[in-house]
Amino acid sequence: MLVLVKKLKRKAYWLLFLGLCCLAGPVAAQAPTAVVRQGHVPADSLFRLLYVPIEVPAGTAEIRVREDYNHEAGNVLNLGIYGPEGYRPGTTAGFRGWSGGARTAFFINAQAASPGYVPGPLRPGTWHVLLYASTIAPAGIDWTLTVALVPGPPGPAFVPAFAAPAVNNRPGWYQGDVHLHTLHSDGRRTPEELVAEAGAQGLDFIVSTEHNTNSANLSWGRYARPNLLVINGEEVTTTAFGHWNALGLEPTTLIDWRYAPADSSIARYTAQVRAVGGLAIINHPFFPDTINRFRFAVRHFDGIEVWNGRWDARNERALAWWDALLRQGCPLLAVAASDTHTAAPSPNQLGRPRTVVQASALLRAGITQGLRARRAYLVADRPLNLTFTARAGGAPAGIGDTLAVAAGQRIGVAFELRGASAGTVTLLGENGVLATSPVASGGSTAVRWQLPPGLPRYLRVEVRNPKGAMLALTNPIWVSSRPR
Ligand SMILES: [Zn+2]
Ligand SMILES: [Zn+2]
Repeated sequence: MLVLVKKLKRKAYWLLFLGLCCLAGPVAAQAPTAVVRQGHVPADSLFRLLYVPIEVPAGTAEIRVREDYNHEAGNVLNLGIYGPEGYRPGTTAGFRGWSGGARTAFFINAQAASPGYVPGPLRPGTWHVLLYASTIAPAGIDWTLTVALVPGPPGPAFVPAFAAPAVNNRPGWYQGDVHLHTLHSDGRRTPEELVAEAGAQGLDFIVSTEHNTNSANLSWGRYARPNLLVINGEEVTTTAFGHWNALGLEPTTLIDWRYAPADSSIARYTAQVRAVGGLAIINHPFFPDTINRFRFAVRHFDGIEVWNGRWDARNERALAWWDALLRQGCPLLAVAASDTHTAAPSPNQLGRPRTVVQASALLRAGITQGLRARRAYLVADRPLNLTFTARAGGAPAGIGDTLAVAAGQRIGVAFELRGASAGTVTLLGENGVLATSPVASGGSTAVRWQLPPGLPRYLRVEVRNPKGAMLALTNPIWVSSRPR
């Protein structure tokens, strides 16, 4: 690696870089020091992490980083930074931001930072810019990092504004989108735009899931809306091994992504999520073909995003995988989410699909506990809602419950659907279809089935439109035998 440290005197160049950093905070532009580093990532270094050390002197008020490389060849060189508090995989103490392939320049100062990055004091010492190639053309990637260190007083401190953990104390079924992106990763909307749209879509809660950063979670409180709960999360993202969502984090918690399936480290990180009451959910396991295919062991996870955006063949595969796991007795939660990045038109529109959760209240712990109990169903859009119960003599069991059935007892199933006027309702068990019924044309369907003798391991319902696309999908009611 060629290392050049020099005071930049070429005014035009410098003005260009200052222009790129026009979002920078109130730091006065005293003669910055520029550190220029260059290197080459050979084509065989896909997914290799490269930490580029940068010495940051005391009295630095702002760090500005710009990355240059040839994008036209299809290269993607992901970008992030760690402070002197620590950067080794397994520690996130020094984490100061990540933008992956979504941006090629950022700044950090005491009060503000580019989206994806964390404002705060700039400790002097060795910082590390993290570069990570997720696509490399055969010729490799020639890259240049230009780092400007701006001296000056630190300026006023950043004041976080965390989302309120509760909206109400009423038990009920709450609709949420558990997977979405803003400018804090590779989304195109601001957090403010996203919460406005969530309100318009009638969502009760959203989960903030930016790629590999918690920077959005530090400020959701600034965009609070009545009746909308914002839950902190993160999409833990490696292009090589797949994506998973950490749902229900503390706003300052960051889950590391820098390990491989072979490390056997994943258990430690999913445990970190559960330790704060959250859930670890496998995302879009078959998206789109070979890259992002999920490669960590499923036993470490709480659930699967079987429905990501508009219903398609990838979702069909995820559904089949989830169902196969149910048949093996792995009671994983199924969730649906938009994974929205842009406003419509897009196959990934906020709230389409959505997960509807039975919760003790519209508060963070209520929603995560409802998800953990798998009291949730999934719908394509806002107007759809349903009830699904089964009984065998005693009290009815609902979604997520276990129905105890005595020998010889028969199971009665009741299913009601509102908001759909065409399609098919299918009741399924571990051996496949148990019963079907048409969706009534008036927008409200009520079905009752009496099952033949025998004990299915679980019961679940799918509702599809006449073209076969999913309209609604329940998590199972589990069935167990009860001694007479
Ligand atoms: Zn993803
Ligand atoms: Zn995503």
